[in-house]
Amino acid sequence: MPQNNTMQDFAAERRTSLIRHLRKHTTAEVRFDETSRQLYATDASHYQIHPLGVAIPRTVNDLLATVQIAADLGIPITARGGGTSLTGQSIGPGLVIDCSKYLTAIAEIDVTGRRARVQPGVVLDHLNAEVARFGLIFGPDVATANRATLGGMIGNNSAGARSIVYGQTVDHVRSLTAILADGTRTHFGPLTPIEYERKLELRTREGDAYRAVDDVVQTHAIEIARRFPRILRKVSGYNLAGLLPAQDRQLDEQGQTARTDTSLLPRSLVPLLVGSEGTLAVIAEAEVTLSPRPLHRGLLVPQFDTLAAALDALAVCLEFKPSAVELMDKMLIDLAREQRGLKNTMLSIRGRPEALLMVEFSSDAAADVSYRVHELQRRLGSAVGLVAAVPALDSSLRDPLWALRGAAVPLLFGMPGDRKPVTFCEDCAVAPERLPEFAHRFREIFHRHGTDGTFYGHASVGCLHIRPVLNLHDPHDVITMRRIMEDVTDLVLSFNGSLSGEHGDGLVRSEWNRKMFGPVVYEAFRQVKRGFDPENLLNPGKIVDGPAMEANLRVAPGLVPHDPPTILDFSRQGGFFRSVELCNGAGVCRKTQGGTMCPSYRATRDEMDTTRARANALRIALTTAGTQPATSEALREANSSRSPIDQRWIHAVMDLCLSCKACKTECPSNVDMAKLKAEFLHAYYQKRSRPLGDLLLKYIHRLSPLAARFAGVNNWLNQRPLIRNILESCVGIDRRRSLPEWHRDHFRKWFSRRAGSATLSSRKHGEGPTPTDRRVVLLDDCFTTFQEPQIGQTAVTVLEQAGFTVELAGICCGRAMLSKGFLTEARQLAQLGLHRLEQAAAANVPILGLEPSCILTLADEWPELVPGGIARRVAAVVELADSWLARQVRENQLPLRLPQFSGKVLLHAHCHQKALVGGQGTTDVLRLLPGAELTVLDAGCCGMAGAFGYEKSHYDLSVRIANLSLIPAVNAEPSATVVATGTSCRHQIRDLTGRRAFHPLEILAGAYATSITGR
Ligand SMILES: Cc1cc2nc3c(=O)[nH]c(=O)nc-3n(C[C@H](O)[C@H](O)[C@H](O)COP(=O)(O)OP(=O)(O)OC[C@H]3O[C@@H](n4cnc5c(N)ncnc54)[C@H](O)[C@@H]3O)c2cc1C
Ligand code: SF4
Ligand code: SF4
Repeated sequence: MPQNNTMQDFAAERRTSLIRHLRKHTTAEVRFDETSRQLYATDASHYQIHPLGVAIPRTVNDLLATVQIAADLGIPITARGGGTSLTGQSIGPGLVIDCSKYLTAIAEIDVTGRRARVQPGVVLDHLNAEVARFGLIFGPDVATANRATLGGMIGNNSAGARSIVYGQTVDHVRSLTAILADGTRTHFGPLTPIEYERKLELRTREGDAYRAVDDVVQTHAIEIARRFPRILRKVSGYNLAGLLPAQDRQLDEQGQTARTDTSLLPRSLVPLLVGSEGTLAVIAEAEVTLSPRPLHRGLLVPQFDTLAAALDALAVCLEFKPSAVELMDKMLIDLAREQRGLKNTMLSIRGRPEALLMVEFSSDAAADVSYRVHELQRRLGSAVGLVAAVPALDSSLRDPLWALRGAAVPLLFGMPGDRKPVTFCEDCAVAPERLPEFAHRFREIFHRHGTDGTFYGHASVGCLHIRPVLNLHDPHDVITMRRIMEDVTDLVLSFNGSLSGEHGDGLVRSEWNRKMFGPVVYEAFRQVKRGFDPENLLNPGKIVDGPAMEANLRVAPGLVPHDPPTILDFSRQGGFFRSVELCNGAGVCRKTQGGTMCPSYRATRDEMDTTRARANALRIALTTAGTQPATSEALREANSSRSPIDQRWIHAVMDLCLSCKACKTECPSNVDMAKLKAEFLHAYYQKRSRPLGDLLLKYIHRLSPLAARFAGVNNWLNQRPLIRNILESCVGIDRRRSLPEWHRDHFRKWFSRRAGSATLSSRKHGEGPTPTDRRVVLLDDCFTTFQEPQIGQTAVTVLEQAGFTVELAGICCGRAMLSKGFLTEARQLAQLGLHRLEQAAAANVPILGLEPSCILTLADEWPELVPGGIARRVAAVVELADSWLARQVRENQLPLRLPQFSGKVLLHAHCHQKALVGGQGTTDVLRLLPGAELTVLDAGCCGMAGAFGYEKSHYDLSVRIANLSLIPAVNAEPSATVVATGTSCRHQIRDLTGRRAFHPLEILAGAYATSITGR
């Protein structure tokens, strides 16, 4: 006991010293708080290790000093990029160094020499966007290219679908600036024999490293050559084979012809450092080589009635020299079919194939690509089991199909329920010609262990992703995982394959390296590690001396996570916890280009502000509070106590979520953080008092009429600095944000003045309704009604001129309540609203809306607040007014003759609209205007998100988000007419550009007055 206390004191002292020195000697962000430790405890694997703390270096000097300080204190470090590794190699118990936030500079692009120098945090897609201007590309194309960093790719020796052309990362790294375990900065690259000899003589850590490597390669060359598989895709162990002379890598099956001429040894340790998972050195800069970017690509997608038929067709495909052949099996195809974002793409998949190949061709000549696509199609015509072969030469079809493969892994994790395809034996590689037999034998192993799995991946290079479906919460399945691994390692050895052809060893496979490489080579690995890192400080437990694969699992087997009761309906996902657990950590929410997810991360580039962090925070809280109850009573009791998510640190992680819903569609697992956040806020404020601003929002539907009644005074007061100061300090509304103008003559008032106008509630019983096919109900949301009544008036005019009778819904959707987690109250409003709308919905009367966030609440949240047939019926007839109008025109019910519109129109669609129904309807309506040059902006989120952008604590972030894309896009077209579907978006555009943005119907109405014909 006293000894334990001493050890604890010692550990605490070292931790304190580490923090002190990091703060004193670096400008890095130093985070040792619980929240950061929790969020960096996971990556995309099923492991979890809480680090001591996190350092986020701002400069390479920070990185150097950080490693030096940790080394002096004997504290282990784990360097980290995007944290998208699948085998747990980017987590560790010591100091995690996140290189992805600031070390993102591309220091040099040498176009003639086809080289670039990059810092470790540069994201692959960002590098490729820069070098594309020069017709160049960094070849290895990981599926995670939009968030994987070059440091991480080097750490894992990453490769992608086109490795048949580009090989692996190791083939494209020329030199490295690295920091050794003792904190010394070193350069690794090609050396002359004399330089190499000098390195061997150095009495430094660098010298130790060179001597260790030299010794093992000289001593064990034959065994190394014999034990390393002779295939393209192999990333297990230290890449000692990469240091052998080329002829030694081409041994015959028995390794009998090996003759090592050591004078031929390559004089660079770069091939060893690449793929060493941060266990030999920390990379500070890399010099990488670039390849010419092919001008044309084309795809053929042959579809088969069995997996075996698809694999048998591989040989023919390879004859045509493709740049990639990717496999997808039935499980994946079926999952893709259910993914909202992939719906259109899946139309190209005919019938119900059991497997498909994506055969890609690349060339500088379009004719060459087209020729090979069609020739292969012709050759496959007679292939056994072929059900269809779809050529995709045009980018509009080719790109989404290609992206379908990229979305594969996260889709698997999105499988509902506890049983998921688990990643542990999922990137074995063998010679491609042996793939059919290998896959067959693999499946036999699954069946022997009472499960099945999914097969997909890089067929062209014999590297398939094969994942058995298991439940790692179940101790029995954890045992099965090990048993399967035992059989799989035997199988891979018998095929002379590699246990990992892509994702590395990490915490899953390091313990198997002795078996896979034999004792001699394994000991050689250990000797190399000792040469570089005798104190075992660099990412310990990876590649050598790894823990058992079932240690450190995210959720301890047998643990029953707490699943709190909820107001919203989570039954489709199997409850709140499973809804959280849909997040697999793959990190698509770290992308920064295209789409909207996740605006908070895009602005801060901080792991804490990702969707993943929010899901991790909730999961950790629920599993920490989980129990291992012996009885169901115990389980019930555990689940009925105060909600474990009701914690301040989780509030901090949730705080910057804008509830934009982008993740609901763009996260491949459809993690719906807006819904989870609403439920979290509801739980969080059960026993806490609410900020005044929240309470005002809660009653906005009651306060707005009052504000409008005294509009003159209110609008005047809202301009007064004193009032703004009071609002800022008491209500939290930032004084820099303009306030909306109230209208005394608001929309409902205007509407009720008109003869024949009715709200649903004012329609008396027995009063004959207009024929249903001429009736529409318009949602008079609070924003339109009291702040932008001209939009409501325009909509009514347009709809009436088009021959429809408009009734107002006269309800509030509860959007503001939902955004602040007032779920009980939101449910009451929804019940009231459903009661009002029930009859109209039953009669199939369209319920239209002008404000996307409001009208879509009826379709998205109401069925989850009040599950049942009525809510479903209402949801089914709900639509945005503009998109409904476009449909009427398309279906020829509404002949329009619109006058010429001259000029450019920029369209920015609201996030909820993009996430739930897409912007196509609005695009269609604007395309009706002859002469309008429409540009649909891919400008992410406006940053306003209802109340979010008003709040003092969020104003700066709100502006930063807007300035990422939307505001520059608007400013770039000073004479264009700006259209934005959401009131928040229009507000933000006006505040930050001084320009007025219009609702789409306003634009249409401007050109509309005399345009309806025949009515
Ligand atoms: C859905 C999905 C698909 C994937 N597809 C592929 C694929 O097609 N091909 C493929 O190869 N991989 C794939 N991966 C695995 C992973 O995304 C890649 O290996 C990626 O390159 C890792 O990059 P990262 O920035 O996330 O690195 P991280 O996960 O952060 O780190 C990876 C390793 O590099 C080390 N490291 C990071 N920075 C440094 C540094 N500065 N110095 C030293 N070591 C460092 C880490 O310690 C760790 O060991 C996939 C993963 C997922 C979730
Ligand atoms: S939230 Fe979605 S995109 Fe982000 S890591 Fe989780 S599963 Fe991936
Ligand atoms: S709702 Fe929007 S801000 Fe919140 S996590 Fe999802 S994408 Fe990010």
